[in-house]
Amino acid sequence: MGHLRRTRTHHSKIARLPRRAQLTARSELTETGTVLLSFDVIDEDPFRFTPGQFVAVDLVHPQLGYRRSPYCLYGGSEAERTFQLLVRIVREGPVSVFLGDLEVGDVVSFRGPSGHSMLPRERDTHLVLMCTGVGLGPCRCLLRRLAREDPGRRITLFWGLRLEEDVCLLDELLALERELVNFTWEISLSQPRGEWPPLQGRITETVPPLLERLDDKQFYLTSNGVMVAEMGAALREVGVPGSRIYEESFFDHRHRPSREAVQRIVQRFETDMTAEVRAFRTRYSSG
Ligand SMILES: Cc1cc2nc3c(=O)[nH]c(=O)nc-3n(C[C@H](O)[C@H](O)[C@H](O)COP(=O)(O)OP(=O)(O)OC[C@H]3O[C@@H](n4cnc5c(N)ncnc54)[C@H](O)[C@@H]3O)c2cc1C
Repeated sequence: MGHLRRTRTHHSKIARLPRRAQLTARSELTETGTVLLSFDVIDEDPFRFTPGQFVAVDLVHPQLGYRRSPYCLYGGSEAERTFQLLVRIVREGPVSVFLGDLEVGDVVSFRGPSGHSMLPRERDTHLVLMCTGVGLGPCRCLLRRLAREDPGRRITLFWGLRLEEDVCLLDELLALERELVNFTWEISLSQPRGEWPPLQGRITETVPPLLERLDDKQFYLTSNGVMVAEMGAALREVGVPGSRIYEESFFDHRHRPSREAVQRIVQRFETDMTAEVRAFRTRYSSG
């Protein structure tokens, strides 16, 4: 018992110390400010993570003082002690600007990885990933892990972006499609210019009519806090249990969706609701 207590104290002290990682590669993915950064962990502590977890990057800003912001892992290797982050450079965000300006060889201070796991607890559910922008990062981390551990899993990814110029990482999605035999994905653009892509609008508008049934599905909602809050509320309203909805908002965390906004999404489920979905909803709401 005494030994256990000592060990725990020791680890919690280590966890509070900042860790260090060195940038080994950077790639500008879009002109709209999306970068993919690769790091080597250069401290002595173990590096373990599960998809969905984030590292918190620290810095002391010359004007603003101490700042820390979390970034979900896009990928990494525990054995090689590496990780990647998919970062949107937000002009008014000091940590994101700092990350965007890093050059190969620069060292950053971070804490973690920590946060919730995205690994599905149920074996046979159909995973529906709904992400906006850099919310693709943790989804890609999950997809890579499942490609290794559960390559037959049924998975559909809906990636919401604003402009055609925001589109990137198509090679990676195509590679995942080859490795995960039941994986499909769609991009939905909220400000398209032409006929492409087939899904046009916010994912809260375009996705609900596409879901033929809900009782076999587990949902993952990541990034834009407005989307996460509105979609999460609508899914609960149409009967999806909270245990099957994973939510991680990157910004606008405090958004409280209006009744009208949630009802608009619910109606989109109902417009094309099959008898099966209707039966499912009745079953859950009466239980
Ligand atoms: C759990 C978690 C995981 C995250 N993972 C990622 C990630 O993988 N990649 C990533 O780029 N960011 C991620 N973020 C957001 C990130 O932590 C920062 O908020 C962001 O980089 C803004 O930079 P900042 O911290 O310097 O400024 P902040 O002061 O945190 O933010 C400045 C402003 O930018 C807004 N903002 C933050 N992110 C965005 C965005 N993507 N689009 C538009 N406005 C935004 C904030 O709401 C705020 O108003 C995550 C946030 C959380 C809570």
